[in-house]
Amino acid sequence: MSNLNPHTHIPRRGILFVMSSPSGAGKTTLSRKLLGADANISMSVSVTTRKPRPGEVDGRDYHFISQAQFDKMVHDKQLLEWATVFGNSYGTPRKPVEVALNVGCDVLFDIDWQGTQQLAQAMEDDLVRIFILPPSAEILRDRLIGRNQDSSSVVAKRMAEAPREISHWPEYDYVIVNDEIESSHRQITAIVMAERLRRRRQVGLTEFVRAMTKQL
Ligand code: 5GP
Repeated sequence: MSNLNPHTHIPRRGILFVMSSPSGAGKTTLSRKLLGADANISMSVSVTTRKPRPGEVDGRDYHFISQAQFDKMVHDKQLLEWATVFGNSYGTPRKPVEVALNVGCDVLFDIDWQGTQQLAQAMEDDLVRIFILPPSAEILRDRLIGRNQDSSSVVAKRMAEAPREISHWPEYDYVIVNDEIESSHRQITAIVMAERLRRRRQVGLTEFVRAMTKQL
């Protein structure tokens, strides 16, 4: 797993960036901004048995599949991780992640803490975990109601789940309090750049330095 560091052009290992948060903390907006700003990151599109929300596109937001299809993917070991969230099944298809890493892309995952733990077990060295917190309970509630995509019973269920989701923040490498989108986006961009520059990820450094010192 190696590709060119877009900042230094020295070969490096690909990175799996995970973003988790309680529902409504702004994670989807932040991941779209990151993908729009950085051509070297591709999104992992999960499979889910949940029904599409208004505006969601099959193949872009999720692959919407039946429980039987999901169970078959688990059985055939086609999922890198999977979990039940709010009564629906969600999982990460293995193949596109391998393809993206092979062609030199980092991969961004919008998955919950259960999936993050599974990825950490399988590939901790290449994993960077970012947790997004809302600035307050009130703002989380307003955002969940304001996005107007879910019925009030679904909003209530998601609010009720939030404390349990939030309790997993210490399992993440970075925590961002998403008060203002632009500022959070800048913080995420800084994390991405710093992680790409980590020495152990820059597997091409030895060769780069050897070639350079020969010329000195
Ligand atoms: P939503 O239904 O709001 O799109 O997502 C509900 C939760 O499921 C979110 O916390 C989201 O991060 C999580 N999720 C989405 N896809 C996956 C996945 O493939 N695996 C896991 N473990 N969680 C996922």
